[in-house]
Amino acid sequence: MDRRGLLRGAVVVGLGAAGASAALPAAAAPAIAAPSGPREPSLAPAPEAPSDAPAGTAAGVTLAAPTIASCDTWGAEAPRGTISTTSGRPNKILIHHMASANVTDYSQAAAYRIARDVQQWHFANGWVDSGQHLSVSRGGYVMEGRRGSLNGLRAGTHTVVGAHCPGQNSDAIGIENQGTYTNVAPPAQLWNSLVDLCAYICQQYDIAPTQIYGHRDFRATACPGDVLYSMLPQLRSEVAAALNGTSWSVTIDNTSSAFSASGNWLTSSYSSERYGSNYRYTTPAEVSDLATYRATIPSNGSYRVEAWFPGISGYNTSTPFIVYTGAGQSTVRVDQSTGGGAWLSLGTYSMTAGTRTVVAVSRWTGGSAYVVADAIRITRL
Ligand SMILES: [Zn+2]
Repeated sequence: MDRRGLLRGAVVVGLGAAGASAALPAAAAPAIAAPSGPREPSLAPAPEAPSDAPAGTAAGVTLAAPTIASCDTWGAEAPRGTISTTSGRPNKILIHHMASANVTDYSQAAAYRIARDVQQWHFANGWVDSGQHLSVSRGGYVMEGRRGSLNGLRAGTHTVVGAHCPGQNSDAIGIENQGTYTNVAPPAQLWNSLVDLCAYICQQYDIAPTQIYGHRDFRATACPGDVLYSMLPQLRSEVAAALNGTSWSVTIDNTSSAFSASGNWLTSSYSSERYGSNYRYTTPAEVSDLATYRATIPSNGSYRVEAWFPGISGYNTSTPFIVYTGAGQSTVRVDQSTGGGAWLSLGTYSMTAGTRTVVAVSRWTGGSAYVVADAIRITRL
């Protein structure tokens, strides 16, 4: 088929994170001599007594282990010294950001590369290995940090002494998130993997979701960035929902029977950034000709609404997405010329229970560039 002809003149741009920025933050004061390359300053771990192992098991559902690339999988070097093992379980999780660039390469290769980079930065600190226990890439790939962390997590009985926050290195699982979250939120892929990972850690070690903290809660540091830090209550809430088995999410693609659009909305599979096999597009027009997504909202509460679309420079920069909460509606303008191939948050809404159109894409916008309707995801918070 002649997909190129279908959308003549369109140019595919690279994957982009919504709101991503390559800017580095103002550096926190390094506690030690800084090697070249961005990395989060920290101190070598202080010796400390092992934590007691709490009794009990996680309630609710049993979560399957998420995919976590081991040190061998991502190509870690061997540790340059002895890594200590704790005799008991950790009792909390500390969230960090790497203070690295907010790259838009979301591939597995990029994930493994940043894991190797971090290990080198931490070797340069004089540490025996990566300081953190686990890492999450901007593309949502989860990786072992300090060697032995993964075996400890699977066993659920112990971990290795890390080097991510003085005083907490035996008590807290340290998670380094690729990027810098001072002014922007992490990409949805990273966030969703972080939620799954934290839920699994809580299950394995019997840690309450309330025991998820930011690095700055235990040390004077900007880490994990103002925006990511402000999202920790949401993280605790989503982790609790995952552990309780009350998490709920629905994804509605344009091929679903819950999607509806007139014949004015044409079908294309031109962009590889599409969700599923294809998407719908049409020209702007001052008419009521909505592409709609129906869903059954299971209960009154807070929901995050996200959109997925291919981001192409020839697409509309101000496409109206209408969110119907059951009590009213909100219109969010979306730039569809960039940032495609990922879940873009349209915001968090208080919704009432019931079956109805929950999101619509409108043609009533300016310019001549195509408006696109691809997939929608709704997640209860
Ligand atoms: Zn940190």
